[in-house]
Amino acid sequence: MHDFRYVGNQLFCEGVSVGALAKKFGTPLYVYSQHTLEDHYQKLDAALAPLDHLICFAMKANSNLSVMRTLANLGSGFDVVSAGELQRVIAAGGDPRKCVFAGVAKTEAEIEFALRKGIYCFNCESEPEILRINRVAARLKKNAPIAVRVNPNVAAKTHAKITTGTYENKFGIAFENIEGVYARASKLKNIKLRGLQMHIGSQLTQVTPYELAVKKVLPLVRKLAEKHALEFFSPGGGLGIIYNPALASGVPSWWKSPAAKGILTPASYAEKLLPLLQSSGLKILIEPGRFIVGNAGALITRVEYVKRTGKKNFVIVDAAMNDLIRPAFYDSYHEIVPLKKIGGATVASDVVGGICESGDYFCKDRPLARVGEGDHLALLSAGAYGFVMASNYNTRPLAAEVLVCGKKFAAARERQAIKEIWAGEKIVAWLK
Ligand SMILES: *Cc1c(COP(=O)(O)O)cnc(C)c1O
Repeated sequence: MHDFRYVGNQLFCEGVSVGALAKKFGTPLYVYSQHTLEDHYQKLDAALAPLDHLICFAMKANSNLSVMRTLANLGSGFDVVSAGELQRVIAAGGDPRKCVFAGVAKTEAEIEFALRKGIYCFNCESEPEILRINRVAARLKKNAPIAVRVNPNVAAKTHAKITTGTYENKFGIAFENIEGVYARASKLKNIKLRGLQMHIGSQLTQVTPYELAVKKVLPLVRKLAEKHALEFFSPGGGLGIIYNPALASGVPSWWKSPAAKGILTPASYAEKLLPLLQSSGLKILIEPGRFIVGNAGALITRVEYVKRTGKKNFVIVDAAMNDLIRPAFYDSYHEIVPLKKIGGATVASDVVGGICESGDYFCKDRPLARVGEGDHLALLSAGAYGFVMASNYNTRPLAAEVLVCGKKFAAARERQAIKEIWAGEKIVAWLK
């Protein structure tokens, strides 16, 4: 499942000691395993092998150029949500003709850029957006390929902030309105209806909501495919990963027979969804982000202080919510392990960053080895929605990123220099 494990009492990423990386590159440091990225991509690719399919990695989960190149080299397309992301695809050596453009707020400039680069499809989220794409395409004398994102109105049974497929959310067009939208769009001169798309949420761990949503949408897919000669159907992304515990026990026993427990994995996905998807008769696109990159990354941090109050043991580290916001934003769990195994009893600890926000913590009252100043910790499964959500809050530089491949390693991003943080700022003339 991933390639962070202890060799003796040292944490390794593939064939490289993570402690040695921390020493060489400093902390906070994101470390990515190329093998895990490749393995997860290939597992999905293999699961979908019986279908004509395309995996479009949802690069909003991790857009480091080396991560993207790893996937582009395997033939991956990309799900982009901005012109900036599409430019990154090009910079990483990816192919815009294998990209879909999602998002509710596409600007005219973004639409024009994507059309000029030959985007495979715009996944549209409203009728005004379709009209806008038609206008831009007409001006450029092009035909714009579109799909509509259908909101199937099913609960994904995941965290509220990552549920997207109900009518409470801003995403997609209501199931009941789709046929009318396609009928109207088919009359637009510069629109080519290419597919239908859905995405019900992220970190889905159960097969059933996914299966129910696909079952609900399939008859609609067939109807539209026939009427409008569609090319593809996309059931979206959202495959969840195991955050707890990713390392301690290695592979959890239930992972081996996932379908029996209803857990969403490539195997159970293939078993439950493949026959449904196959019956659509269309090419299948999927847009996984977290599944491919989540367990492939860890955030390495140094313990600066241990502070004991009457009630608590605070482990204060040099990473903070600006480096990894998931615990503060989504109440999310990251397994936290020392780079060098420490024996003896554990102590219930809060691992916290140095930012002046009480939300700035990585865990609370978690049994943790008794670490001290200068020890290092790894926050596992930090490869997705980690670095990409980092900010300069508190004028803290963006962390460095390293890619590991076997015994090889190299900086995939240099640590940001402090001065770069305000490089675009100016003291306005009248203040001088
Ligand atoms: C975010 C997103 C994805 C990827 O979600 P993951 O949970 O990372 O797989 C896929 N499709 C759409 C439309 C998205 O917004």
